[in-house]
Amino acid sequence: MNKSEIADYNNRLRTASPKEMLLWAFRTFPYQTAMTTSFQVSGTVLMHMIRDITFDFPLFFIDTGYHFSETREFKNRLRQEWNMNIHTILPTVSRKKQDERFGPRLYDSNPELCCRLNKQIPLKNLKKEIAVQAWISALRTHQGETRRRIQPVMTDADGFVRIHPLWNWTWNDVWKYIHEFSIPYHPLYDKGYTSIGCFPPSCTRKNDISNGERAGRWKGKGKSECGLHSDLDYEKKKERNRS
Ligand code: SF4
Repeated sequence: MNKSEIADYNNRLRTASPKEMLLWAFRTFPYQTAMTTSFQVSGTVLMHMIRDITFDFPLFFIDTGYHFSETREFKNRLRQEWNMNIHTILPTVSRKKQDERFGPRLYDSNPELCCRLNKQIPLKNLKKEIAVQAWISALRTHQGETRRRIQPVMTDADGFVRIHPLWNWTWNDVWKYIHEFSIPYHPLYDKGYTSIGCFPPSCTRKNDISNGERAGRWKGKGKSECGLHSDLDYEKKKERNRS
């Protein structure tokens, strides 16, 4: 998909509702869409919307081996209650081998490498293995500075289309939907977390929403993203086009 097609889709979809965007995605890329989720609240909202449209939709959970037990339990609950097609993806290098090679607690000594081994590489491998053209994602501009430039439709560095049906939703919009439809949500939100990733305190901490949704992630580590979304077409593509 070239730049002008993306711009055209964005013009058309900017005022579309999330469900209209999902329907557009399923029509435009029939049987060629998928989604990754770590069962955070925005992802759960999207899953609920997708479930209203189709049951046969592939969802992927990248299990880093460091997720909270509550995340796995919540995943199993949704799989059972919502009957969704959820696949678990594991890192190719086992935790034991990572510990042997890089030492224990890689998440503390080198969180960039830890995220690369346990999240980015498994996703990259998955993208090569399955016939998917478009990835649906729950990213939102209001989640913080690094997500400020999210558009409804983007491409990533590998040429895959990224679709963000909730791109302009706020924290309050998400919770309004959760309560309006009485849908289940990850239990750690009720324990003071506003963004939930891996359990080491250096990766996920309790946080007050007034600090921003993602302020509890990698606090003090100079890191705010796991890298799964860092290849989105922001400045990098502009630079490529200039040269
Ligand atoms: S979030 Fe933390 S534990 Fe999880 S992959 Fe990244 S650095 Fe490792």
